[in-house]
Amino acid sequence: MQNNLSNTVSIVRCSRYQKDTVLESIKYLLAPWGGIGYFVSPGQKVLLKPNLLAAVKPEEAVTTHPIVIKALAELVQEAGGLVYIGDSPGSNREASVYRLTGMQAVAEETNSNLIVFDRMKKKDYYIRSGKQELELAAVLDEVDTVINVAKLKTHPLTGLTAAVKNTYGCIVGKKKSRMHFEHPLPRDFARIVVEIYLAVKPALSIIDAIIAMEGAGPRRGKPKNSGLLLGSPNAVALDRIASECAGFKPDQVTTLTAAREKGLAGVNLNEITTKGLSLEESRIRGFNKGTAAGGNIGRLAANFPVTWLRGWLENRRPYPNIDDRLCTNCGQCAKWCPAQVISTGSSIPDIEIDSCIRCYCCGEFCPTGAVNIK
Ligand code: SF4
Ligand code: SF4
Repeated sequence: MQNNLSNTVSIVRCSRYQKDTVLESIKYLLAPWGGIGYFVSPGQKVLLKPNLLAAVKPEEAVTTHPIVIKALAELVQEAGGLVYIGDSPGSNREASVYRLTGMQAVAEETNSNLIVFDRMKKKDYYIRSGKQELELAAVLDEVDTVINVAKLKTHPLTGLTAAVKNTYGCIVGKKKSRMHFEHPLPRDFARIVVEIYLAVKPALSIIDAIIAMEGAGPRRGKPKNSGLLLGSPNAVALDRIASECAGFKPDQVTTLTAAREKGLAGVNLNEITTKGLSLEESRIRGFNKGTAAGGNIGRLAANFPVTWLRGWLENRRPYPNIDDRLCTNCGQCAKWCPAQVISTGSSIPDIEIDSCIRCYCCGEFCPTGAVNIK
């Protein structure tokens, strides 16, 4: 793959989730590479990896829209590829996640294989001086190509969740929350997310920002009409451009900071060629960044030079709080909390804030959206 095409980010306007409109927009999006055939060869097994965080309807903007996945599935099939659609949703409610997010219908309509990431392969990687074992979905060994189809949303831990962060879903089930426990600090968590991205190696990443999520993402934010689709073989460059569109500085997106540390191409704007819309034309006016990357305290902590003070600041990042009007006392948050600091039994669960590692998994797993970040 030539470097100039690798570091190209394509941006197109797409105003609504209407099948033909989205299909034509994606064709235009992929024009700089000559179309989907640049990424998919006849006979290849192609995994479409959406963001399927929770069992919610597409209009809530929590998940990648099914119309985007359907359009991509059809394009891949036209190129002779065999389509797999799958993710490891944030809970063990895969059947309802696939039904409510529209993925089950897409798989039926396009005759694609809908899969759940429930088996693991093992890969060993070295991160800095230590050895880190990543347990990724076994399907990555079975497919030839991964197309990473992310949603543009705010995130309290990484600032923005877009293409690089979407590959975190290739960690199977509960291992994801264990990874949070092992890497509780935002900068360490971002480093591991970047390692996962490098291990998954998507051939193409696409960001669905037709309707993005602003404010209290990735689960409780507000849908934001943004009218954009973005794509690139380089997810770091793609996230860099998406963060500019949404008004983030690079140091507000911890995965970009980690990519810079790692020396990956695409963090600096002068390394990226944009096609389609210009950056100026793509800015999302008035995008609410929420408590991006732990809010001001999180950002200050991430770059604070004095180690013990940095730890003190990190413990003062925004914390989860349960809204008793929305809580049904289902116990999911307690079940999935990697630090095991949520106790149930009372009318609403109780969080031991002093021991909370601020991973915000409770908010992602809560089916009713009862967990706020304070
Ligand atoms: S209470 Fe929530 S934010 Fe705190 S450790 Fe548990 S899951 Fe993570
Ligand atoms: S906060 Fe959410 S996940 Fe936790 S018990 Fe209440 S409804 Fe269930």
